[in-house]
Amino acid sequence: MNRGGYDVVVVGAGIQGAGVAQCAAASGYRVLVLEQYGPAAGTSSRSSKLIHGGLRYLETGQFPLVRQSLAERETLLRIAPLLVHRLEFYVPVYRETRRRPWELRLGLSLYAVLGGLGPQHRFRSLGRALWGGLGGLRTDGLAAVYSYLDAQTDDAALTRAVLDSARSFGADVSCPAVFQKATRTDAGYSIQYASHPSGARPIECHGTVLVNAGGPWVGQVAERVDPPPPSVEVELVQGAHLHLDEPVLEGAFYVESPADRRPVFVMPWQGGTLIGTTETAFRGDPASVTATPAESEYLLETLRHYFPAYRGRVIATMAGLRVLPHGKGAPQERSRETVLSVDRADRPHYLAIYGGKLTTYRATAECVMRRVLPALPGRRSLADTRNITL
Ligand SMILES: Cc1cc2nc3c(=O)[nH]c(=O)nc-3n(C[C@H](O)[C@H](O)[C@H](O)COP(=O)(O)OP(=O)(O)OC[C@H]3O[C@@H](n4cnc5c(N)ncnc54)[C@H](O)[C@@H]3O)c2cc1C
Repeated sequence: MNRGGYDVVVVGAGIQGAGVAQCAAASGYRVLVLEQYGPAAGTSSRSSKLIHGGLRYLETGQFPLVRQSLAERETLLRIAPLLVHRLEFYVPVYRETRRRPWELRLGLSLYAVLGGLGPQHRFRSLGRALWGGLGGLRTDGLAAVYSYLDAQTDDAALTRAVLDSARSFGADVSCPAVFQKATRTDAGYSIQYASHPSGARPIECHGTVLVNAGGPWVGQVAERVDPPPPSVEVELVQGAHLHLDEPVLEGAFYVESPADRRPVFVMPWQGGTLIGTTETAFRGDPASVTATPAESEYLLETLRHYFPAYRGRVIATMAGLRVLPHGKGAPQERSRETVLSVDRADRPHYLAIYGGKLTTYRATAECVMRRVLPALPGRRSLADTRNITL
């Protein structure tokens, strides 16, 4: 391990930190990743595990994000065929569903257009004769069922694969390693970190560029940087999932919670079913996030409502934290765009990643590297992440 100097030091080995490390190492830079618990120990193992455009983001007009996510979905299907696979989604429309069938058709058409109109982007309407084969989906009041293709992954495995790829291009990964402090120098940052157990003597290194990929800890990491860098005001919003032991169907469902009409996914997962998610305001230590009884009941009620004969048992619950820019309106209406914050616009030596999606990690990493390029020395690029098989 190069304890002396690195071009890029990344705090956090979630999908964003792993992505930046891979992109930087493949670009020929000397990279160090510091992770306090383990790769994907934070949000990146607690997501809905979808590599998707995000059909619902169309409602809030986030068209550039949806287009970019759909392009990234196709890239990941190509470069990570063992980790990302297509998944058929069914969208039932009932009398009481918030959106009418014509609105669904419009949304799915737009989704197909933003995806590039290939056969993989087409949606279809399922005739009544097929409704009985949808895993016991409630049919009273059902007006239409649409289906379209998106993709699913194992988020933690994807994160580990991206980090392994970074390592294969020479990145050092220190774990467990708690980032403690960074102090600005003429050429970047002097960085202190400690291996667990806490109290061990801090280790020092130098990074020309410091990337804060702390996920829900992004604010805490920023507070340890001297002088204080500009930061973005964010809210942490908890999202829970339940893992049940019985499958509903090979495909997934996009339904509305009967309680508040929020979208909920019912997905196949490891031979059983994954259902999520919720939106609960969170305060406290991100390491302590867990699904609440109210969240579990909300999700079970949704499952029972649409699949009255389903008898699966809950075998695990999980909760993760969305990092959303502070703002008005319900969390689901807020932008899912990634916000990059830098210490100075022309030659940033510090960059923090706020929010974002699993799906777009690769594109985000490219964007991060473009932003910090003026501060970095010239190096010979080794590979392009668009073509690195995971
Ligand atoms: C409920 C939910 C569902 C989601 N579903 C989807 C989905 O289906 N598809 C999609 O595309 N996106 C989804 N997302 C978004 C996606 O999961 C996140 O954007 C992504 O996982 C965030 O990754 P990250 O690397 O920024 O954060 P994290 O994965 O949380 O990683 C941050 C890492 O930084 C480390 N760290 C923090 N502080 C320190 C320190 N001082 N020293 C060392 N290490 C430190 C942490 O231990 C952690 O491992 C979902 C998010 C949530 C909450």
